[in-house]
Amino acid sequence: MMHPLLQEIVRARAQCPVCATPEHLREEEDGASRRCGACGLRMTLTADGLLTALPPHLAETARENAEYYDAMARRGGGNLSNRSHSRNHLQKCGAVLRHLGLSAGGPAKTVLEFGIGLGSHAAAVAETGAAYAGLDISPGLLEFVQRGRPELRDGLFAAADATALPFQEASFDAVFGVAVLHHLAEPLDGVRELLRVLKPGGRFCFLEPKRFYPVHFLGYLRNPKVEVGTMKTTRERILGCLRGLHVAEAASDPLIYTPNRPRALVPVYDRVDRLLGSAPLGGLLSVMFCVHGVK
Ligand SMILES: [Zn+2]
Repeated sequence: MMHPLLQEIVRARAQCPVCATPEHLREEEDGASRRCGACGLRMTLTADGLLTALPPHLAETARENAEYYDAMARRGGGNLSNRSHSRNHLQKCGAVLRHLGLSAGGPAKTVLEFGIGLGSHAAAVAETGAAYAGLDISPGLLEFVQRGRPELRDGLFAAADATALPFQEASFDAVFGVAVLHHLAEPLDGVRELLRVLKPGGRFCFLEPKRFYPVHFLGYLRNPKVEVGTMKTTRERILGCLRGLHVAEAASDPLIYTPNRPRALVPVYDRVDRLLGSAPLGGLLSVMFCVHGVK
C-alpha cells in the first residue's frame, strides 16, 4: 500500500498537467480517476500506486523516449541492467543520498525521482525510510520496475511528462534525477519543473554525464532523438538556471573517473578516483557531474 505521505500528495497536491491548475480536477465515479473539467484530461491511479497523468499530446522526442524505454522494459531492462550493480552505480546512489540528506533513521521525507531506470536509485532511497515517488515518461518501464521490486511496494509511480508535472508547487521534500535531463529537448525545462514541485528549503540533485565523454557522445550520435538534449546538458547551464530561480544554495562536483572493469584493477581505480577527486583540475577528467543544492 502506498506510503501515507504519498497518498496525501495524490489526494491533495495533484493538478492537471495540461492546465497546470488543480481547480478543475473532479473525481470520477469509479473513485480511482479524476478528470479535468477544463481540458478533459483523465488521470488514473491503480491500487498498486501507478498514477497515469500523461498529456494527450507529447512532443516527438518525448514520444521517442517513451517508445524506447517501453521496448527496453519488454526486453527485461536491456543495457540498463548491466550497469545497475556496478561500483560506479553505487557511487551515484551514494551521491544522491548525501546531497538529499537521506540516511536510515532520519525523518520521513517525500522524494521524487525523475527517470526511474530499473529502480535501483529508488531502492537506495526507499531503504533509508523515505517515501519514494518515481516519475517516467514510459509506462512500460514503471510497470516493469513495480513488478520486479517488491521493496518499492509503498512507492508512487507516475507516468508523466517531466516538463508538465501533475503536482502542485512545493509538494515534495526532495527531488533528483540521474542521467535523465539530457533526454529532454530542453533540459532546463525539466530543472524548472522539478524545482517548482520542490518545497522551499528542500534539497535537489541532478547527475549527468558530460556531453563529450566518448561513450555518451557516441550514444547521442546513434540515437539523437532519445538523447536529444545531450549538447544542452552542461553544468554551467544548469547552475545558471538555478541561479535564475534564486535557489538558496547550488554547487557542483565532478563524479566518476574510472571504469567498473576489470575487477582486478578496482583497488588501483579507487586510488586514481581519490587522487583525481582531490586534484585541482581533476574534475576536468570526470565522466559525470553532479549539481546539487537547496531551494
Ligand atoms: Zn486540464
